[in-house]
Amino acid sequence: MKKILVAGAGHGGLVAAGCLARAGYNVEVVEKLGREELGYDWTDIFELSSFDFAGIPRPPESEYTLKEQMTFINPSRTVFLNPRKPANHFEYKMERKDIYKHLLRFAEDGGAILRFGINIDGPLVENGKVSGIRTSAGDMRCGLVIDACGLDSPVRSNLPEGYHILKKFAEGQRFYTYRAFFARKPGDVKYKYKIYFYHNGEAGISWAATEEKYIDILIGRFTPVTQDIMDRALEDLREDNPLMTRERIRGGYGAMISVRKPLPLFVGNGYAAVGDSAGMTIPIIGSGIANSIIAGKILADTVAKNGDFSINNLWNYQKAYLDARGAGHAGLDAMKELLSGVRAKDMDFMMERRIITEKDLGRAGAGGEIRMPLSDILGRAIRGLKNFPVLMKVARAAGRSKKLTAAALAAPRTYDADAVSAWMDVYSRI
Ligand SMILES: Cc1cc2nc3c(=O)[nH]c(=O)nc-3n(C[C@H](O)[C@H](O)[C@H](O)COP(=O)(O)OP(=O)(O)OC[C@H]3O[C@@H](n4cnc5c(N)ncnc54)[C@H](O)[C@@H]3O)c2cc1C
Repeated sequence: MKKILVAGAGHGGLVAAGCLARAGYNVEVVEKLGREELGYDWTDIFELSSFDFAGIPRPPESEYTLKEQMTFINPSRTVFLNPRKPANHFEYKMERKDIYKHLLRFAEDGGAILRFGINIDGPLVENGKVSGIRTSAGDMRCGLVIDACGLDSPVRSNLPEGYHILKKFAEGQRFYTYRAFFARKPGDVKYKYKIYFYHNGEAGISWAATEEKYIDILIGRFTPVTQDIMDRALEDLREDNPLMTRERIRGGYGAMISVRKPLPLFVGNGYAAVGDSAGMTIPIIGSGIANSIIAGKILADTVAKNGDFSINNLWNYQKAYLDARGAGHAGLDAMKELLSGVRAKDMDFMMERRIITEKDLGRAGAGGEIRMPLSDILGRAIRGLKNFPVLMKVARAAGRSKKLTAAALAAPRTYDADAVSAWMDVYSRI
């Protein structure tokens, strides 16, 4: 059996490594960081059911808690929405380093070899085909490269043109963040987990989550979070959350989140991307852990079925992922565009006039599409008549959302170069 290299110890890559090693493949994961450096110094929220899907043993209950309800706040802070997530959609909060601990164990127990401290420079390409990776430890050859190197993957960014795979995510598809935990004073709060839309009038969000021992802060913008943006945001958050102190106890750095629909193509001959490298986050909230884990399992099953590393077979992975998760999330790209492409005062209008409702935010947070039945559209139209341009933007976003989901679901069932190319064209244009 030919060798499989997983580029980067991303979540989906580790899952695929564990599954494929169990299926008898010779799998190596190549990661630039050291083992102990993996995983951010903060907690994350994700669907633990993704572990069940991938066949990863559940962590002990002491390692996770049910996620608190969120409160969405408009820029003028006149509206506080507390959407309920669908009852079947439970998400849990867990330390990122603990998530990694379990995924690393799953990969290693399955028989995958993990190699740390090796930087990947790009794909190794021979006769126009990916045949391995170029690394600081030399060239490494294999039959299949699984690209789990994240948003700015050096593998994906340097693929041959003939692969027709997007190399760089555009501005607007990247969400710049700063995250830190600050010590808190004792006391009670009315809203434990606040999300501020257009915080300080800037396109993006900030959150302040009051936990037992600290206040978890995220400042996220569609442009880089400069020192000035950060200082102003922190000052304002302290004012609005008087229990927050100046003492930073964890985190205190930034990272980028992919916020876009899944890539039009994330497979090629001898190549498959998974996770952020393939644009697999939920665009409206930036969650990508569960999607990566699920995609890793789908990819491994696809490969293990017949051992075929060609695009003809790997396309089945892309198709299955789009059907299972990607199509619904693709639709949410429209919601992200809407929420990032209006002015703060339009956002106020949308939330104050209930053009955007608790239900919309609840569904979006759970990764569901924006649904607007006729009765709903009429009600919103009446409430939104005062600001017709904004109303039209919402209507267009709802229309685009539906089209995106439908287009993603209409991806060709089997690989045919012309049919896939024509489909990619349609999907990319929406
Ligand atoms: C502030 C913040 C908060 C988030 N909160 C959540 C959350 O609550 N829930 C959620 O589901 N998601 C969250 N996300 C998103 C989540 O981090 C990603 O979607 C998730 O990590 C999946 O990405 P990945 O595993 O594909 O890639 P990554 O996590 O980016 O992993 C890529 C790996 O590849 C390695 N790598 C990169 N370049 C090279 C190279 N040149 N050579 C070798 N190795 C390389 C990296 O070191 C890394 O280990 C958050 C992200 C941020 C930044």
